[in-house]
Amino acid sequence: MKTKKLGLNTVCVHTGEVEDLTFKGAISPIYLSTSYEFDEVDALRYPRNFNTPNQEALCAKIAALEHTEAALLFGSGMAALSAVFMAFLKSGDHLVVQNTLYGGAVNFIRQEFPKFGIEYTFTEGYEVDDFAAAIKPNTKLIHIETPSNPLLTITDIQGVANLAKSRGILTVIDNTFASPVNQNPIDFGIDIVMHSATKYMGGHSDILAGALAASHQYIDIIKDSAKNFGGNLSDFTVWMLERSMKTMGIRVKAQNRNAKKMAKWLSNHELVTQVNYPGLKSHPQYELAKTQMKGFGGMLSFELKPEVDPLKFMHALKYIKPVGSLAGVESTILLPAKTSHALLTPDQRATMGVSDRLIRFSVGIESKDDLMDDISQALEKALLNVELQKQ
Ligand SMILES: *Cc1c(COP(=O)(O)O)cnc(C)c1O
Repeated sequence: MKTKKLGLNTVCVHTGEVEDLTFKGAISPIYLSTSYEFDEVDALRYPRNFNTPNQEALCAKIAALEHTEAALLFGSGMAALSAVFMAFLKSGDHLVVQNTLYGGAVNFIRQEFPKFGIEYTFTEGYEVDDFAAAIKPNTKLIHIETPSNPLLTITDIQGVANLAKSRGILTVIDNTFASPVNQNPIDFGIDIVMHSATKYMGGHSDILAGALAASHQYIDIIKDSAKNFGGNLSDFTVWMLERSMKTMGIRVKAQNRNAKKMAKWLSNHELVTQVNYPGLKSHPQYELAKTQMKGFGGMLSFELKPEVDPLKFMHALKYIKPVGSLAGVESTILLPAKTSHALLTPDQRATMGVSDRLIRFSVGIESKDDLMDDISQALEKALLNVELQKQ
């Protein structure tokens, strides 16, 4: 019998529940036991083996959302990504990495790979040709991120997946910025999808977690290696994350809508020079984004005119918080030059297109008029007093 595919919000709410057979409660019970009887399970049930009831149930939801057979949960997004690297790379192997990449991933590669004798190349750009140019005979894995942080560049997912397949190379994507609501890279031929579940999956800035989604074949290989590193997510947090993910569909769609409106409004603002958002027709890869994204996400960045002091602007905001993380229901803002890209020199930042006046904006679910009012009043307060000085 062919069953009809469930809709996004039904999957978010219902798929992968732990049934409460004892009390018939409406939600998943939480199993915090670290010991289980040897009974009829292939591998001993143990949290670090990724096979407790709550972990397995939530992984079914994540797998359904990413159109894969299986998934795994980790204590952080970085634990998930490092599990992929450690499972598939060994001494003498080579990794091709996109040049515009989450800072923590760049640090991991630069600091840890030399210790293991693993080679790597950062691409020159994010076009498929740039990936082709970086491949070596010993390349085993290609890692991409799209949309990227903080410039929201778009990588051609299918193009990179096809290139990798033709050379027998595995592919992994950091799908955090899009979330499974807006982008399912498996449908374009990517092998392994990684998420910082700290972001849109959690959505309330109160959970640190990571996830991987892939075929049984790859998930089994990763699980076998990752249990040695011990990076599983605690079952209490798994349960919290399950609750968060029930609303992920409606949250992210509200953020998509808000971000698009904010992007359009900011691009017409006299104190803003540039807005980076894949859902704007002015984005150089708008056409490509349309082919691989179902929604354009809640992340954007914009550049302020020289007559605005960026730090003053950030701290004059009343509701939009100047904090480090992203993707919560609350809007947040930061200056990449002072945070994620602070360790680079101004010249290095300029080469990457990250100016000292660039603001990254994680758009929440607040009423859009209040967000606009907040930005307007903060811009006014942050105006350098050019007019006053003239008088
Ligand atoms: C936050 C983030 C990560 C790292 O996730 P953690 O949960 O902080 O370990 C990786 N990639 C992207 C794009 C992120 O935003």
